[in-house]
Amino acid sequence: MPNCTQPSPAKDDTRLQVVIVGAGLAGLAAAISISLSGHNITVLESAKELLEVGAGLQVTPNCTRILQKWDLPDRLWQSAAEPTSLVVHRYSGRTLAIEADFHKHIRKKYGAPFIDLHRVDLQLALYDKAKELGVQFKLGDRVKDIDFSISEVRTEAGAKYTGDLIVAADGLWSKCRSKFLGSEDKPMPTGDLAYRVVLDVKDIDDPELREWVERSTVHFWIGPGAHAVGYSMRGGQMYNIVLLTPDDLPSDVSRQAGSVEEMRELFNDWDPILARFLSQVDKVVKWKLMHREELDSWINADSNLVFV
Ligand SMILES: Cc1cc2nc3c(=O)[nH]c(=O)nc-3n(C[C@H](O)[C@H](O)[C@H](O)COP(=O)(O)OP(=O)(O)OC[C@H]3O[C@@H](n4cnc5c(N)ncnc54)[C@H](O)[C@@H]3O)c2cc1C
Repeated sequence: MPNCTQPSPAKDDTRLQVVIVGAGLAGLAAAISISLSGHNITVLESAKELLEVGAGLQVTPNCTRILQKWDLPDRLWQSAAEPTSLVVHRYSGRTLAIEADFHKHIRKKYGAPFIDLHRVDLQLALYDKAKELGVQFKLGDRVKDIDFSISEVRTEAGAKYTGDLIVAADGLWSKCRSKFLGSEDKPMPTGDLAYRVVLDVKDIDDPELREWVERSTVHFWIGPGAHAVGYSMRGGQMYNIVLLTPDDLPSDVSRQAGSVEEMRELFNDWDPILARFLSQVDKVVKWKLMHREELDSWINADSNLVFV
C-alpha cells in the first residue's frame, strides 16, 4: 500500500504519465491518490480559478477516513462542522426520528467522523495537497477533443497532452463521455430542482437561529412533494439549507437565480423554524438536478481512458 502522505516512487519503467480532465472533487482526489502511487499527473481544468461553486457538502466517514490519511491542511478540519445530532422531522416540524450523540456513534462505529463542509474548503485543501505532491495544473483551458488512438488530449487553446492514462473527471457535462461514446450525450433532468441557501451567522439577526447554527446539527424535513435539509458548516459559523422541489426551470436552464418570495411561499406551512431561517435569506440559486445513465464500461477499449 502506498505511503499516504508522500509519493512512493514508482520504478521508471512503471511510472505512468496521467492526464486528468477536471479539477473538481473527483479529479483532485484522483490526482492525490494516483500521485501517491508514484505516477506523474497533469490536471486540465477549464476554470481559470477554483472558486466557490455550490454550497455545503455532507462528507460521510468512508470519505473522511481517506481524507485523514492524506494529511490535508489543518484548516480543512477547522472549517468542518461535526453534527452532534441528526433529526428527521415531518414537514410541519414534528420529530419523527432523532439520533442524539450522532458524532460519537459515527466515530465509534466507523472510526472516522461525519462532517459538513463548504465545498470550496474541501476543493482548495485537495488542490493544495495535490500541488504539494508535485501534480501539475493547467487552469483556464477547456478540453475539446481526445484522440484515443494516440492517447492525446487537445484543448481549446490548442495545447496537446499525451498520457499513458486519461482520467475523465469533468463532471456532469462531460466532454470525455461524449468522446468515449462517439456522440453528444447530455445529462437528463430528474424532475426535481434544489434551492441552495447559505447563511452566515453574522448576518442572522435572530438569537435562537444563531444558537441553532452554532450547535452543529443536521435536520431533514420530509414533506408532500418536497424535502429540506439544513446543517451547519465552517465550525458552526455558516448554515446550509437545501430545499428540493419539483423542477420548474426552462428545459435549457440548469441553474439560475431564484425568487426568495417564491421559495418562502413554497415552504410557507412547513416547520416554523424553517420559515424563520428562510426569512433571513436575501438571495437564492435554483439548481436543476440531473442524472446520467450508467455506462456499460468505465474504461475504453484501448484501456487508456477511465471515468471516476
Ligand atoms: C444540491 C446538491 C447537493 C449535494 N450534496 C452532496 C453532499 O452532501 N455530499 C456529497 O458527497 N455530494 C453531494 N453532492 C454531489 C457532489 O456535489 C458531486 O458529486 C461532486 O461535486 C461531483 O464532483 P466531480 O469532480 O465529479 O464534478 P464537478 O465538481 O462538476 O467537477 C468537474 C470539473 O471539471 C471541469 N471541466 C468540465 N468540463 C471540462 C473540460 N471540457 N475541460 C476541462 N475541465 C472541465 C469543471 O470546470 C469542474 O471543475 C450534491 C450535489 C448537489 C447538486
